[in-house]
Amino acid sequence: MKDYYNVLGVEKTATEDEIKKAFRKLAHQYHPDKQGGNAEKFKEINEAYQVLSDNEKRQRYDQFGEAGVNGQGFGGGPAGAGMNWEDVVRRAGFGGGFQGGVEFDLGDIFSEFFGGGAAGGRRSGRQRHGADIQMDIEVDFREAAFGTKKQVDLYKTVTCDTCNGNGAKPGTPINTCRQCNGTGAIEQVQRSVFGAVRRHAICPGCNGEGKIPETKCTECRGTGTIKKNTTIEVDIPAGIDDQQTLRISGHGEAGLRGAQPGNLFITIRIHARQGWERDGDDVITRMSVPYSMLVLGGKVTVETLDGSVEVKIPSGTESGKALRLRGKGIPHLQSSGRGDHIVIVTIDIPQRVSMKQKRLLKELAELEGMNVDE
Ligand SMILES: [Zn+2]
Ligand SMILES: [Zn+2]
Repeated sequence: MKDYYNVLGVEKTATEDEIKKAFRKLAHQYHPDKQGGNAEKFKEINEAYQVLSDNEKRQRYDQFGEAGVNGQGFGGGPAGAGMNWEDVVRRAGFGGGFQGGVEFDLGDIFSEFFGGGAAGGRRSGRQRHGADIQMDIEVDFREAAFGTKKQVDLYKTVTCDTCNGNGAKPGTPINTCRQCNGTGAIEQVQRSVFGAVRRHAICPGCNGEGKIPETKCTECRGTGTIKKNTTIEVDIPAGIDDQQTLRISGHGEAGLRGAQPGNLFITIRIHARQGWERDGDDVITRMSVPYSMLVLGGKVTVETLDGSVEVKIPSGTESGKALRLRGKGIPHLQSSGRGDHIVIVTIDIPQRVSMKQKRLLKELAELEGMNVDE
């Protein structure tokens, strides 16, 4: 038998808060999308949390063990809170989201789903969130630096506008389900060796809706939603970096019967650009210049986000030296100021030299007391 307390590493007397904290810590650690993550372990942690975070389930578990909570619908059973752990992995996933996400962290997502799930357990099925949508957007270097707007085409579930999502043919009545008296749930009593166990199940008569349209909407066949091509304009904020994820609230799939829609998650992919490397909010340009220039000093022209800039190379500059152009880099995300443009100069060693260059170099070598090949 699994010891849920052991799984979360808490005492039997742990408070709700302690359980929550332990769960978050472990969920972060074992999240399957993370390096060193473990899907099996993650599932186990979720299962334990589903039971121990729910007072009723926890009491039953303390009293009867696993059997007391089995068949209660957690883990995707018919009376579940409208989600199973796979949903959570998918919703909470999005790879780098919690490392570099712009608007959310894993904690938000967990509290949203577990919090709501546990409290709304009895209303199962009635308030089903729409699914989230995950997609990538490609932007070029400059677009990511200064921000841009992108048209995004989505083929997704939207609320049926013929019936406004209630599933009834316009002008026809919607009746209260007689089987559940509109509650959407029915109670079943199961007798077992542990005694009578009451369980709530989604009403089969109305599929948990509590209401049944007398005549179904022909457009959506009574489901209240239809699949449709939609276009939205997405604001890509200035300073966003590669692999960062934006959450566009409410632009996921529509929820059933007026439930909250899911969210749209957009992960940014920045196209590489020749001559510019990005390092946080700094832009790096690598340049190789002749030995003579590093010794004597001079000027080079560097392409920056603000256009061409003349950069002075001081005399006696060492190879590999970084010259910093302050404030010419990437604007900071969601704050003022900009990073720098950094020019790294290294010696250009020519593979071929002219007769004249060769003569001068030999002369130089002699001056430096070097013994060079003929
Ligand atoms: Zn409809
Ligand atoms: Zn019903």
